[in-house]
Amino acid sequence: MEGGTFDDNDGGDDVQGEFICPECGSGTIGDHLLVSPAMTDDENPWSVVTQRIRCGYCRSWVPAHLGQRWGGMSLDRAKEEWHESFRDGGISQARREREARYAGRRRTKNGEDGSDY
Ligand SMILES: [Zn+2]
Repeated sequence: MEGGTFDDNDGGDDVQGEFICPECGSGTIGDHLLVSPAMTDDENPWSVVTQRIRCGYCRSWVPAHLGQRWGGMSLDRAKEEWHESFRDGGISQARREREARYAGRRRTKNGEDGSDY
């Protein structure tokens, strides 16, 4: 799942404003949601996303600034940010790494030698 590649989607149609799902490459919009973030959480990038678009194909909620690539963002950059920050429900890379470390530490209780894997 996590090793998905999008190489076959790299066309020349990088037009800003046209929705392209960073997850599956579909251009179909399912829903468009405007939200007012209740609070800002540094570790949750979704907390500052006020416009979300739901892909009509894979049903992923995608931040509008990534789906439509605001500010001339490239499709590759949008996909990168999607995978790094948003795809797993808004758990930031930093938090994921910390949790992975924590899980690894707990696992060493079982008599393993504390190596990462
Ligand atoms: Zn999609």
